Amino acid sequence: MQIHISFDYELFFGNASGSVEKCMLEPTQQLIDIACKHNVPFIFFVDAGYLFQLKKYIHIETCKQDYDKITLQLNRLASLGHEIALHIHPHWEDCRFENNQWIIDTTRYKLADFTEKEVGEIVSKYHHAIKEITGKPCKSYRAGGWCIQPFESIRKALIENAIFVDSTVYYKGFHDSKAHFYDFTKAPDLCEWNFENDPCIENKTGMFKEIPVTADQIPPLFYWKLYLKMRLNPLVYKPVGDGNWLVDKKRIYKHFHTSTNHFACCDGFFASRLQFVLKDAEKQKKSKMMVLSHPKSMAPYSFNTLNKFIMSAKSKGHTFNTITNE
Ligand SMILES: [Zn+2]
Repeated sequence: MQIHISFDYELFFGNASGSVEKCMLEPTQQLIDIACKHNVPFIFFVDAGYLFQLKKYIHIETCKQDYDKITLQLNRLASLGHEIALHIHPHWEDCRFENNQWIIDTTRYKLADFTEKEVGEIVSKYHHAIKEITGKPCKSYRAGGWCIQPFESIRKALIENAIFVDSTVYYKGFHDSKAHFYDFTKAPDLCEWNFENDPCIENKTGMFKEIPVTADQIPPLFYWKLYLKMRLNPLVYKPVGDGNWLVDKKRIYKHFHTSTNHFACCDGFFASRLQFVLKDAEKQKKSKMMVLSHPKSMAPYSFNTLNKFIMSAKSKGHTFNTITNE
């Protein structure tokens, strides 16, 4: 099996964005160490809107320093063979840097909240913000907050940017909140497929390829355990990032009493699920597994578990790869 370990490289979008050091630089350095130790590449979906905004505020010393540090890390990631891919959170359009902190406004959280013309401009200028740093175009895309629907205007923008691979969809995924909307309930249960106008509908002659994030159905007991572990042993289980998630409280409570459709992930205690997802994929003879995580949400426990997971998967003959090098 080909295993893709991907990370959405970004700050937090709740009422505190967190620092670049704790949300991006430090946890990513630990990921670089793990990757080097096992000689495996990861995929980093870089929040390009953040880079675009940082550049806009480059006359402010803090922003300049953050931009320089991120530039250094992204170039290091690229030089080590990790894939730098495009991740778009368009609400950066409405965020400001004031009194040495980001004022996050998620009123327009998804590309669907913008006009087709705006979507075209956002995708191109954000993509440019990455190219300016790495000198290379991205080949793969992941929608911010999984909000890739409706796809029509995003489709045109991706074609314009010569990006034909998406990795946003996860089987049975669904979320409808003030900020989010996505509905993957009609997506096929496959490891990859081609599509044309709708990432959830397979079209064998479509010009786009979907490499979905591997699904994981999580029982309520997991969330009770997570809650207890975070309370009893925060030093081990608490994420290293120092900001706050954009949360949908209704959805969180649901997790405690019913099984929920999630995805393979090594954020915090979610890393404990990786072995089950892998076993399930092996049983179903799947050709691929895509894990979605965030540097900001990695905890000491998750680094340790990811380390063991890579060792064990390699010993079973599975290989780790980027999307581009496949
Ligand atoms: Zn994101």
